[in-house]
Amino acid sequence: MDNCIFCRIVEGGIPAKIVYQDDQVLAFEDINAQAPVHILVIPKRHVAAVQDCREGDQALLGHLLLTCSKIAGMKNLAESGYRIVTNTGAESGQTVFHLHLHVLGGRHMTWPPG
Ligand code: C5P
Repeated sequence: MDNCIFCRIVEGGIPAKIVYQDDQVLAFEDINAQAPVHILVIPKRHVAAVQDCREGDQALLGHLLLTCSKIAGMKNLAESGYRIVTNTGAESGQTVFHLHLHVLGGRHMTWPPG
């Protein structure tokens, strides 16, 4: 999609530190890390946010979550724990309108989030 920064990362037009990819998803380090491990997991196909997903996206959504679990394993977070976040809409704090799951770990997390 034109003007989507994450689509440009998928296409290789903007550099990113990629940690995993397959035919459907891409995972890369967040440029403004909020934890020792902060990875973004995105679909390669442009979808703005969770509320824009439809029945046909069930497999993709499951794959995104399983990729988060895979990343957590790669980063040795499975035992200590980690957080998966997806901000949805401006009020939630979403700033990039291409669906992404944050995988955060390597430090103690507090609740509720701000
Ligand atoms: O959930 P939200 O939309 O706010 O998250 C967007 C994230 O994308 C931010 O954490 C930001 O640091 C990250 N980002 C990035 N690389 C870019 C642009 C944004 O990692 N080129």
